[in-house]
Amino acid sequence: MSDFDAVVIGAGNAGLTAATSLQLAGLRTLLVERHNLPGGCATSFRRGRFEFEVALHQLSGVGAEGQPFTLRGLFDRLGVSDKLEFVEEPDLYRAVVPGRFDVTLPADWQGTSDALEAAFPGNRERIERFLQLVKDVTFWQIAARRGMPPEQVDPVLFRYGLRPVKDVLDEYFDDPGLKSVIGTYWTYLGQPPTRLAFQDLALTLYAYLEFKPWHLMGGSQALSTAILDSFLAAGGQVRFNTSVEAILTEHGRATGVRLDDGQEVTAGDVVSNASLPLTYAMLGEGGVPPAVRDDLATRRIGVSGVVLHMGLAATPAELGFTTSTTFVHADEDDERTYAAARTLEPARGICVTSYDVAPIGFAPSGATHISLMTLQYGDHWAKIPPADYARVKFAYAQTLLDRVEAVAPGIRDAIEEVDVATPLTMARYLGHPGGAIYGYDQDRTEGWLFRNSERESHVPGLHLAGSWAGMGGFQPTLEAGARVARRLLRARAAA
Ligand SMILES: Cc1cc2nc3c(=O)[nH]c(=O)nc-3n(C[C@H](O)[C@H](O)[C@H](O)COP(=O)(O)OP(=O)(O)OC[C@H]3O[C@@H](n4cnc5c(N)ncnc54)[C@H](O)[C@@H]3O)c2cc1C
Repeated sequence: MSDFDAVVIGAGNAGLTAATSLQLAGLRTLLVERHNLPGGCATSFRRGRFEFEVALHQLSGVGAEGQPFTLRGLFDRLGVSDKLEFVEEPDLYRAVVPGRFDVTLPADWQGTSDALEAAFPGNRERIERFLQLVKDVTFWQIAARRGMPPEQVDPVLFRYGLRPVKDVLDEYFDDPGLKSVIGTYWTYLGQPPTRLAFQDLALTLYAYLEFKPWHLMGGSQALSTAILDSFLAAGGQVRFNTSVEAILTEHGRATGVRLDDGQEVTAGDVVSNASLPLTYAMLGEGGVPPAVRDDLATRRIGVSGVVLHMGLAATPAELGFTTSTTFVHADEDDERTYAAARTLEPARGICVTSYDVAPIGFAPSGATHISLMTLQYGDHWAKIPPADYARVKFAYAQTLLDRVEAVAPGIRDAIEEVDVATPLTMARYLGHPGGAIYGYDQDRTEGWLFRNSERESHVPGLHLAGSWAGMGGFQPTLEAGARVARRLLRARAAA
């Protein structure tokens, strides 16, 4: 008999929901995490009087109590709903290009339409048609993903779903400012409007406009800890500060793992929340099926980021923050802003999250906790000589501060605590190549129509869950772990 029914490698969002779903279904499950706490990206840390959220900016998938969306059901099934306190954000975001526009979009369809029309008059009819397109493409995309036969799916999905965002925005609008404001969420998906599939932007806009952006009291760490507690209460076992070094196989089937202290643990099934390159490397020489090797060679390691976590001795209002989420860009040239993610030129676009406009409990009264984030790939950071790293990191961080001064002019004077994370920081804490935060580059070739790594490990008994096997982000990875667990349980029941 195996030591466990299942071993889960990694306690990121998908690892946690997979492990807990399996344990709650009665499988004896071991969760192995190399870090000393649960969550992967979904964690927080302390500096002085402040707690800092590592990753979560806006949680999608929650929905209001009267209009719940998928995550509420998942949290119920995991037994964590009564441990979570959701914080609703009234606005989608404020988008600023100094000297060009400063627009705040409320998190509802009519409010967004009104705000866009007020900022870019004369576009009402186009805006309404565009928002309807967002709804239609999303509706039919969800239907298609749930298995509706293609002949029953409205052709609007096939006409627009895979077109680059830029094409669709150009078809609907002339004003570059309007296009830039309504397309701003490309930065959340890590791909510029020329490479991002319209259906992905549409889904993101729909998720936040229809079901609102949320946060959690205690940040994403509160969620990770609650899920882990539920796993442990159901009898699951966890090993922190422990890496899986190898996935054991017999006759091509995964049979367990070897831990970094040399201990071998056998299991009927192995679920990996680690990156795909690392997961397959753990199978060892000759263990990777040729189909996988060929596939991995065609994929691009995705984007990471530089984040300035700051504790500020002033309130959001005193600093000039009116919304939880503000995007400040140098201009409307999103392609140039994306290209800058491969260089150390001054940050051209930042996402500013002020966690105390709708407080999540991380800053003391009268103070504010914010993060400034810009997209950066890991390659050029890996080439910086160690002796230069600190200097380069802090010089680059200054360029994010320069950018935020457009909306918070006195911010430098209010800094009490500051910490800077780079792609190398993400790589160190997550173990992911390039410090990638959404797995592979989420361009059109990675969409659900072309790839489904989650279903295709090609190694019996090995299951893949998380941003590297599907879509990155909180909602997708939380749901992915539970989905993979359901599939695994069905397969065991059928065997
Ligand atoms: C700064 C930042 C900002 C972000 N902003 C947002 C946002 O606003 N909205 C959003 O939706 N998403 C955001 N994301 C992305 C989102 O957080 C991630 O896509 C998601 O959390 C990834 O979840 P995952 O399940 O893939 O696991 P990950 O969080 O990638 O965790 C994987 C886990 O596996 C562990 N592991 C790896 N190898 C091993 C091994 N060999 N043995 C044991 N353990 C191992 C790692 O230590 C880690 O804990 C952000 C991420 C970051 C870092």
